[in-house]
Amino acid sequence: MDLYEHQARSLFEEHGIPVPRAEVTDSPEGAREAARRLGGPVVVKAQVKTGGRGKAGGVRRASGPPEAERVAGDILGMDIKGHTVHEVMLAQPVDIEAEFYVSYVLDRAAGRFLAIASAEGGMEIEEVAARRPEAVARIHIDPAEGVTSAKAAEIAEAAGLPPRTVDVLVRLWGVLVREDAVLVEVNPLVRTEDGRILALDGKVTLDDNARFRQARWGAEGDTREDPLEAEAAAKGLNYVRLDGEVGVIGNGAGLVMSTLDVVAGCGARPANFLDIGGGASARVMADGLSLILSDPGVKSVFVNVFGGITACDAVADGIVRALDTVRLTKPLVVRLDGNNAARGRAVLDERAHPLVEQATTMDGAARRAAELANTS
Ligand code: GDP
Ligand code: MN
Repeated sequence: MDLYEHQARSLFEEHGIPVPRAEVTDSPEGAREAARRLGGPVVVKAQVKTGGRGKAGGVRRASGPPEAERVAGDILGMDIKGHTVHEVMLAQPVDIEAEFYVSYVLDRAAGRFLAIASAEGGMEIEEVAARRPEAVARIHIDPAEGVTSAKAAEIAEAAGLPPRTVDVLVRLWGVLVREDAVLVEVNPLVRTEDGRILALDGKVTLDDNARFRQARWGAEGDTREDPLEAEAAAKGLNYVRLDGEVGVIGNGAGLVMSTLDVVAGCGARPANFLDIGGGASARVMADGLSLILSDPGVKSVFVNVFGGITACDAVADGIVRALDTVRLTKPLVVRLDGNNAARGRAVLDERAHPLVEQATTMDGAARRAAELANTS
């Protein structure tokens, strides 16, 4: 999960990395008040989980509280690369003498972390790397050793960063390790005209596998994302929203992925990815079904199950019991195959719900679900 800039800034501050004073607000009036508290002039920054905000007009200076209010009014509600701006951060402006780039990222292929650093910060690092690869230092970090002062000095030296950045490099490693991050990035890390080193922009990506240890971001981190995805996350469902009309439920990520393809091949668009894994329980089925049915774009639902360890009759039982708690409002096409398929089909036949149909093949079921979606 990515954090917002202001959340990354808070973490940096907690770890003793110098950052400008700042406040967050969701209204122009709030921006005026914040600017007043911050002493007048401010930088108004869109809070969206994407880079390049500066270029898109999402980072602007304001000379004082009234202008901060106007600028915040312009930026709030803006769309930046598909992300709507719901909040702005107001930061005390600083006089920049030099901009640097620093990040630590998990290098899965190498089984290590990678420090990427450059004395040419501010712009996107991909551009610098493409134009002047020699200006970007890349140094692997042994996860067991981490970034010691010596390692930090090696990184700073290789990238041409001033020695005063060494302390920040060590602390930034502390953020990565203690906050369970797989990426921490500061761009720009600046030297101000009065000689201070400050992190002016931050990106932190947390390891989703460590979410249980990082509960503080759970609710806050997700509230601005897709409401259905947030609800799915809260219920522990492996769900991704798409923008089609055929809802999809399957067991196993691979099967669900190919189900999406088959639905698309039948001339309809999948509305979501939902992998119930081995979870044939009525609870998981009911949660999954009600989630999919609450998506207004959904016209039909395709349940595609290949019984392996989880037997099809257990899945069918789950569906039948889910139908007791969820009011089915759209047609459901079920394909059961594999372990105990015949018994599973019998269970559904016996329930004889008017909106539930069965198909014996994946292709046949996808065609039927697509047809139902396209004709309703
Ligand atoms: P990004 O475009 O999403 O990466 O947003 P940044 O926060 O990195 O801001 C983009 C650029 O705006 C930075 O590289 C700086 O050059 C500039 N900027 C941001 N904050 C300040 C500030 O407080 N003072 C000055 N002078 N420039 C700033
Ligand atoms: Mn930046």
